[in-house]
Amino acid sequence: MRTPVIAANWKLNKTIAESVEFVQQLRGALNPWPNVDVVLCPPFTALASVASALQGTPIGLGAQDMFWEAQGAFTGEISGPMLVDAGCRSVIVGHSERRTVFGETDEMVHRKLLAALTHGLTPILCIGETLAEREADQTVAVLARQLSAALGGCESRDCPRLIVAYEPVWAIGTGRNATPEQAQQAHRFIREWLTKGRGAEAAESIRIQYGGSVNGANAAELLRQADVDGALVGGASLKAEAFSAIVKSAAAAKAVHSP
Ligand code: PEP
Repeated sequence: MRTPVIAANWKLNKTIAESVEFVQQLRGALNPWPNVDVVLCPPFTALASVASALQGTPIGLGAQDMFWEAQGAFTGEISGPMLVDAGCRSVIVGHSERRTVFGETDEMVHRKLLAALTHGLTPILCIGETLAEREADQTVAVLARQLSAALGGCESRDCPRLIVAYEPVWAIGTGRNATPEQAQQAHRFIREWLTKGRGAEAAESIRIQYGGSVNGANAAELLRQADVDGALVGGASLKAEAFSAIVKSAAAAKAVHSP
C-alpha cells in the first residue's frame, strides 16, 4: 500500500505570520494524526519560520520551485542546498504556472528534477495537458513527452522518492476538476509508462497525486481511485479547515481500500 500524500501549494500567498498561524490551526485540526503524509509548500520567505513551527509534527516542508545550480551568479534563484538548509524535504518541479507564465521548458524541468534528487530532496514532478491538448486527443502523448523529458537519467532506485502530480492545466484554479474516471485513466497511463521504463516494483512505489480544483467535497471520490495516491492542492490549501478536510478524506478513502 502506498501512503497517501497531500501537499499544499500556497503559491504567491501568505506572510510569515499567516503561514505560522496556519500550522498551528492544522496541528489542532489533525489530531489524532491520520495515516497520510502531509507536505506544506509555502513561499520561500516563510520556509524557515514554517520549518520551526512544524518541529515535533509529522508534517513535511516543501518548496514551490528551485534552480538546478547549487550556487553562483543567478540573481533571484534558490538552490537545492538552500532549500535543505531551510528545512525542506521536497520541492515542486514543473508546475504548469512555471511552465506557462515563466516559460519553463521540459529540459529545464529535467535539470531541476535531477538537481532535487542530487541534493536529497523529493521532487514533486507536475505534468498535465492543456484543454486544447485534451480536446485534440493528445493527453497521453503530452504526458508521455513530459515524463520522458523530465525523468531521463533518473534511475529506478530514485523512484521511491519521486512523486508525480498529474495536474490537467484546465483544472488548475478553475473550479472544474477532472472526473474521478478521467483522473484514474491518466494515473493508470502514468503508472503503466513508469512500469515500462523503470520496472513494476519502482512504478508501484511511486505516488501519483491528482491536482486541479481539489476541495473537501470532491476529494474523497478522486482519492478512492486505485491509482490516485494523493493530491496537490492550491486554492483549498489556503485555509486550514478546508485543507484538513482533504487530508481526512484521503485517510478515509484509502482505509476503505486497504486489504
Ligand atoms: C495547483 O496549483 O497545483 C493546484 C492544483 O491549484 P488548485 O487546487 O487551486 O486548482
